Amino acid sequence: MIIIKKNIILLFIILINIFTFSYKYIFFFIGDGMGFNHISISQTYLEKNNETNLNLYKLENLSTLKTNSLNTVTDSAAAITAMMSFEKTYNEQINIDKEGKKISPITYHLKDSGYKIGIITKSSITDATPAGLYARTSNRKNHKEIADQLLKSNIDLAIGGGTAFFDNDKIKNSNFRYNNSLKQIPSEEQELILTNYSNVPFAIDSKTNYLKPGLEYALKKFSNDNFFILIEGARIDHASHAHDIKTMIYEMLELDSTLETALNFYNKHKNETLIIFTSDHETGGLSLGDGFLSISKIEDQKFSYEKIANTIKNTNNYDDFIKEVNIKGLEKEYNETKNSKDYTYNSPLIRKYLDTMQKKAGFSWSTYGHTMSNVPLFSEGLKYPNLVDNTKIFTFILNK
Ligand SMILES: [Zn+2]
Repeated sequence: MIIIKKNIILLFIILINIFTFSYKYIFFFIGDGMGFNHISISQTYLEKNNETNLNLYKLENLSTLKTNSLNTVTDSAAAITAMMSFEKTYNEQINIDKEGKKISPITYHLKDSGYKIGIITKSSITDATPAGLYARTSNRKNHKEIADQLLKSNIDLAIGGGTAFFDNDKIKNSNFRYNNSLKQIPSEEQELILTNYSNVPFAIDSKTNYLKPGLEYALKKFSNDNFFILIEGARIDHASHAHDIKTMIYEMLELDSTLETALNFYNKHKNETLIIFTSDHETGGLSLGDGFLSISKIEDQKFSYEKIANTIKNTNNYDDFIKEVNIKGLEKEYNETKNSKDYTYNSPLIRKYLDTMQKKAGFSWSTYGHTMSNVPLFSEGLKYPNLVDNTKIFTFILNK
């Protein structure tokens, strides 16, 4: 009887305490696919261009994060579920546990405690990582179902690509104010800002920073509130799947420069702010050097694999292609690509162009998929243990 009574008291203590939080302001940066070597080479690139250190080295603490899912090597769906909902699950599942039951991401509890929730991503807003904050599905590829769930969710601000998956009438009938750019003044309403059909273009092609204005917009919108904001460098992963190191570095630098905005905020709100800068998994098995490393060999690359592939698709002959992207000596591969109609990173031209250049530079990749390498976990405002499992990353923000 005494034991039962003790347990009831304990349960009560857990229930009243478990979802109170120790920070008012939480910045959650995810470099999707970012491993240690992605950071190392981005720092090397800055040094080569005589610039200062990456902002992330200003963060006080660095730990390592275990990323595995129940399938061993994780995807972004199982990884964001582990981080948001504290449970390991199978790949492709978002906030669904190993038995197929729905589980609740921490953002639900933060909302119940009065926090505003913001998402800024360079992928479609319905991609696995952003969806981890508001959706539950056994298949991450159900983009339209995820879009419907977003429109019914209580997310306060969602910025990204993905008009492809949304129905205009459904948006009109939702509580969200909709826009296709950041030009308006933030409102008190829930806001959905979709700037692109699917992914947002790569920084190397657009020559603009997308995430930083997004974060500044969120801070204006949430100026009187506690908040949790996800800032996702989603396309570090895409460039790494494509083995396109230069494009990857530009994505890294964009995410890193956005961190500056969070650091400025932190300096005005110390003791109340937490910044986490981490990754969901490593992509590509990136290896730096083959007994040598010559980063200047990638200097000539001016466009991403995506832009080059689209240019092949949209030109009728090799001369026109050269005029647009200035890549010479690959006429045979251009014609092979045209014939195969494969305008992905697997196309003959893209593979020949990137693989030759990167081999000369000394870079190599071990897989077109993800790896199980531990990833960096940088933080400001909280010192993590040296090794943290991805299911534990947000248990440390709960009040003890
Ligand atoms: Zn990936």
